Amino acid sequence: MLEPEFKNCPLCGDGLVKKYNTNEKTVITLKGKLVCWERVLKCRNKDCKGNLMSFHSSEYKSLALSSMNFGTDVLALEGGLRFSEHKTIDEVLDKLSFYGIHTNRATVSKHSDKYLALISGYHKENKRQFWKTTCCSQ
Ligand SMILES: [Zn+2]
Repeated sequence: MLEPEFKNCPLCGDGLVKKYNTNEKTVITLKGKLVCWERVLKCRNKDCKGNLMSFHSSEYKSLALSSMNFGTDVLALEGGLRFSEHKTIDEVLDKLSFYGIHTNRATVSKHSDKYLALISGYHKENKRQFWKTTCCSQ
């Protein structure tokens, strides 16, 4: 079970309490299967906007994309093998089996698309940040 990394409301400083638990999720990582869930918290102060908000665990959110059961570490390995080392899908499957992960070509292909989308988003964000901090601050 993972909770937010902070225990006090970032808006008023009061303590956080349970809002709800997510369903259990199995995530396949390079270190094995991980069964986990998240305890989402809210501010206990009913007069604070944080009482209506949901505070999440960044560790839980970073384990896997919300629509996937494979961990981001697996996605990063697959993407690195495909696009940095120029490995074929079959070579990626061989490497995954080394970690005890047995999947198929379609899944690796789908993960490659997700990896490219993540890298693209990362570059867009960095480009935006670059322009903000270097040229457009006048
Ligand atoms: Zn609060």
